[in-house]
Amino acid sequence: MKLDRIDIIHTAIPLNQTFRTSFGAITEQHSIIAKIYSDGAVAYGEACPFYAPVYSYECISTMKAMIAEFIAPSVLGRELSGPAEYLKMVDSIKGHNHAKATIETALWDLESKTREIPLWKLVGGTNPRVDIGVSIGIQPTADDLLSKIQSYLDEGYRRIKVKIEPGKDLETVETVRSRFPDITLMVDANSSYTLDDVELLSGLDQYNLLMIEQPLSEDDIVDHSQLQSRIKTPICLDESIHSVEDARKAVHLGSCRIVNVKYGRVGGILNSIRIHDVCRSADIGCWAGGMIETGIGQRFKLAISTLENFVYAADIETSDRFLVEDIVTPSIAHANGFLDADTDYQVDEAKLNRYTSDIVICRP
Ligand SMILES: [Mg+2]
Repeated sequence: MKLDRIDIIHTAIPLNQTFRTSFGAITEQHSIIAKIYSDGAVAYGEACPFYAPVYSYECISTMKAMIAEFIAPSVLGRELSGPAEYLKMVDSIKGHNHAKATIETALWDLESKTREIPLWKLVGGTNPRVDIGVSIGIQPTADDLLSKIQSYLDEGYRRIKVKIEPGKDLETVETVRSRFPDITLMVDANSSYTLDDVELLSGLDQYNLLMIEQPLSEDDIVDHSQLQSRIKTPICLDESIHSVEDARKAVHLGSCRIVNVKYGRVGGILNSIRIHDVCRSADIGCWAGGMIETGIGQRFKLAISTLENFVYAADIETSDRFLVEDIVTPSIAHANGFLDADTDYQVDEAKLNRYTSDIVICRP
């Protein structure tokens, strides 16, 4: 294949609620959508590290600049066999995985369309039925949190994830556990603790948590290995894993027992598959985490979640979960906590245009 044109589309979709994490409050979903053109076919990719560089050093502005100035010129007009060759073409560009993933995911979409193979089969998935969990941001009061959990359980979600931060941790988990003793429960700390908190974090062991996600620094795998040897709750690494090499080292050090694979953070679907393979050989289960993508990105999470070693419920957001309106049709809607990866979600161009705040067109 050869790419004739790449549109870098910045979308901004208002959220139907404020999403609060230890990074701060988010009220609008910003994404970079890549629309690629090849020999009459059109395909879409997406990645979204948040508007500001609070999850990683990447943000919407850096993504636009990286794709326009470096990634697009490396690939436009050149013969390209697929994602593996693409990753080699952009390998000299250091980091910027979300920017790279935007084009990489579009290449998978293009191949899926031109070969008429559903994405989940193309990535090597084994089961299109994907169970999904729900991630609940930090709530103003314990009662707000409990009633949110109850309503998501009523909807059928398979796993509840609660965000914790210093001052809102043990007590929060105690409150949730006493009300819901048997649910599949996990916590995400988004790097808000240090090794000085070992005692506090080992206090979580009594609550039978599925995992604690990223308790320590976002660039660490060494302290996490220390922590994992001192607590029973399985540690899941999220922010620390940017590459297949990071996964291999974390596995080697015993820094985690679970890996959250965010395709944007690791540079796309092919690297997600490679990380999945590394983890599988070490008996470390994976799951697909999210950055509140539009339906375009949710499709990629859905596809990788069908891989054999994605054994934990995924954070795949339904269309009405956070966005006032999604840009795919049909809308993504779960049935009792399950999604069918075999559904053919198409981009609704009118809606995409409605939420486009900026577009850069790149040609060879
Ligand atoms: Mg996380």
